[in-house]
Amino acid sequence: MMTENPFLKESPLPYQLPPFDRIKDSDYRPAFEAGMGEQLREVAAIAHNPKAADFENTLVALECSGQLLQRVSTVFSSLNQCNTNDEMQKIETEMAPKLAAHRDAILLDPALYARIDSLYRRRESLKLDAESMQLIDRCHTQFVRAGANLPEAAKEQLRSLNGQISSLITQFKQNVLKATKASAVVVNSADELRGLSKVQKGAAAKAAEARDLKGKWLITLQNTTNQPLLAQLKNRELRERLFRASIERGSSGDADNTTVIAQLVKLRAERAALLGYPNHASYHLADESAQTSQAVHKMLSDIAPIALARAKADAAEMQKLIDSDAAASGTKRFTLQPWDWPYYAEQLRRARYDFDQSQVAPYFELNRVLHDGVFYAAHELYGLTFKERMDLPVYHSDVRVFEVFDADGTPIALFLGDYFARDNKAGGGWMNNYVKQSQLFKLKPVVANHLNIPKPQAGQPALLTFEEVTMLFHEFGHAIHGMLSNVRYPRLSGLAVPLDFLEYPSQNNEMWAREPAVLRHFARHYETGEPMPQALLDKVLAGQKFGQGYATTEYVAAAMLDQSWHQISVAQAPAAKEVAAFEAAAVHKSGLDYPAVPPRYRSTYFSHIFANAYSSGYYAYLWSEVLARDTGEWFHLHGGLTRANGDILRAKVLSRGRSADPDKLFRDFYGHAPDIRPLLEYRGLTETH
Ligand SMILES: [Zn+2]
Repeated sequence: MMTENPFLKESPLPYQLPPFDRIKDSDYRPAFEAGMGEQLREVAAIAHNPKAADFENTLVALECSGQLLQRVSTVFSSLNQCNTNDEMQKIETEMAPKLAAHRDAILLDPALYARIDSLYRRRESLKLDAESMQLIDRCHTQFVRAGANLPEAAKEQLRSLNGQISSLITQFKQNVLKATKASAVVVNSADELRGLSKVQKGAAAKAAEARDLKGKWLITLQNTTNQPLLAQLKNRELRERLFRASIERGSSGDADNTTVIAQLVKLRAERAALLGYPNHASYHLADESAQTSQAVHKMLSDIAPIALARAKADAAEMQKLIDSDAAASGTKRFTLQPWDWPYYAEQLRRARYDFDQSQVAPYFELNRVLHDGVFYAAHELYGLTFKERMDLPVYHSDVRVFEVFDADGTPIALFLGDYFARDNKAGGGWMNNYVKQSQLFKLKPVVANHLNIPKPQAGQPALLTFEEVTMLFHEFGHAIHGMLSNVRYPRLSGLAVPLDFLEYPSQNNEMWAREPAVLRHFARHYETGEPMPQALLDKVLAGQKFGQGYATTEYVAAAMLDQSWHQISVAQAPAAKEVAAFEAAAVHKSGLDYPAVPPRYRSTYFSHIFANAYSSGYYAYLWSEVLARDTGEWFHLHGGLTRANGDILRAKVLSRGRSADPDKLFRDFYGHAPDIRPLLEYRGLTETH
């Protein structure tokens, strides 16, 4: 039976595209087990090689290990995200601890580390090229950061801390789920729901029915502090109720996260101390392009007051609306509160940039945006061309495959587009790498983009919002980063960059959606081919800058809260009952203590930092965006959408993966340190109305 397992051998398909048509759910478990076993044998052979350690028999050999595990992991993690089922989720739960222990077995193997360390110490004498030097450096860093050079007793302590931290993370995640569900707001009369559409009211009635609350309505909560329905609800009492339900989530009752937070930040501080750092933030940031807490703090605190001033200016406009409404209806005047913000922001947006989504949508047809926008920009910038391949197997009939060619006709990659929403697909948009580019294995990349565009009925066009158009460009920016990668070692390939650099190419690529030379090319009516009228185009573009004061302020407040939680020493960790006070003090210290705009997440439901990979890393999105907007300005100063410009970015950044320090790649491209001004302009934060 094992002989039929499609993961056991390299895929015979072009570019080693996974043989999706031959993969069954029952193939994963045995392939994972065989893959881990194979890699442990390979690693043991490297660690106990009787020959003295050299670059080839240790570092290159380690790069070559674990190929079977790599094949099954990449396919499994991608399909589990975009096309999952119960069986796959069971496999995920079962494999997660096994894979974590497998990684530890390699990273904490003393014999293997001794060889890597000996090479690292004499790296200058090895006469290696720059990329090979970087491989030694990265590999050594990864082992050291995992605790490889600690004495055995400390390693044992580390394993125990890792175990406790990972159980707390699971507990945090489950509490957020439970608290979010339990905090849904029950509404007793239809009248309270004024402002919602028929469809939305119907959904709220259905949600209530599902919880045996027949004849009532239920408003379920989204992850963020701000709840989208606040923009529509006319009933002020209900708005307040919904807002309070959101911010009080997880702070009491049987899904109380304060104890989890208190323990988690303390254990993270302990682990950092064990690894030789003053706190968790220092540990995390040392391997990011920001490097230090000071650098992160500087970027956030430079932007904070400007964002807050913009938010306050918008608040003044909204207060005028509130006052004139009160005067007109003879009701009592009130001061703008956080639960009023989205509602009056929506009134203000309509007053300023009045247009309707239904006017815009016919000009943004998916295929046209893809070919005449996304692919067109990539052609103008990098000389790429795209040819759809109908002969290759896919995992779902909606998935499209394109072969990508360089300017001289050389085939360089396969690109998969999986654009439509499905019940068994995670939300949002993302990119993944099925095959990583590497010269070592002579592999060209296979990358995929995933979005959640509502699928139109058969024969109907998929018409997008401008936000969806922007997402299409964003995810393709990640794809470009993977497809143009041109490095030797897989460990340094493509998107193997720090979190605070990862969103740079993608946010940069968003700029082309707004660029007149590209926008004019794709914004055409799907039936008549007529270009979008200039007046409408102007409104759509101007509308992009609306509400950025609020968005930037709530984001920066959350990013600073994250830094505060992870800059504490073990002794400074608060008790569970002090968690709320700690948060209030942190927000106050950030200078963003403005109740009308609360942090995007409060601690008790801040999953990015307490349940996902972004602990002391929530700032990363904005850090990357600074680089992206600087790059956008650089393009404009050098003539915009040209091959010459694209080739420079490609040579200096997009093809380089992590073959050099990302911070250095950026400076070599840009000529100096990052500057926040272009970001402020892009977000319209410096404009006055
Ligand atoms: Zn992204």
